[in-house]
Amino acid sequence: MPALFTDRRQGVSLAPYDSFNLALHVGDHEESVRANRAVLTSQVGPIQYMNQVHGDAVTVVEHFSDSDPTCDALITTTRGIALAVMVADCIPLLLASKSVVAAVHVGRKGLHNDITTKVVAQMQDLGAKDIHATLGASICGRCYEVSQAIQDEVCATHPDAFSLTRELTPALDLPRALVAALVSMGISYEASSTCTLEDPLYFSYRRHNITGRNAGVIWL
Ligand SMILES: [Zn+2]
Repeated sequence: MPALFTDRRQGVSLAPYDSFNLALHVGDHEESVRANRAVLTSQVGPIQYMNQVHGDAVTVVEHFSDSDPTCDALITTTRGIALAVMVADCIPLLLASKSVVAAVHVGRKGLHNDITTKVVAQMQDLGAKDIHATLGASICGRCYEVSQAIQDEVCATHPDAFSLTRELTPALDLPRALVAALVSMGISYEASSTCTLEDPLYFSYRRHNITGRNAGVIWL
């Protein structure tokens, strides 16, 4: 299925949102974000964004809406509507099949609440077969330092998330844990090895908590 991931290049937003920021909620000038979004729309057609809240709500999109649904995953069976997930360190997960596609926001909470399992089940209910996953750039297991308590909590249900920083402090490897979950569901995948914190081409909340958002976009 057609899909793409954006990075910081070729937009009009000024620092600290420079330059291809796609998020309206982060303090950037609205007209800059609208201009950046228009560039993307010119490439892929109407794009449904969502109001992401680190929850596990999933919205099936049948018609494009100007008011973004509050959820952390979008699914569609409709041609002509692109789905976008916005991130700055979390994993932008795109799920493709011949007749159903989805865009999913997978951060620490999304991994913990198993939003991906819910999305896959809903896609299958809608007729999806042979789902293929693509993980865009996200923060890596050596950069995503967390408290011992949070590491313990996440690793209790997702042991593959266990990681340490270069300084050997507790960390989480969200991409590895998500890949393990996908494999356990029999889903094929490809995953970016780029770390958003280390690569300045990407917005990273851990690098600078006032920043823009990268996007993953998929459509039928
Ligand atoms: Zn890293």
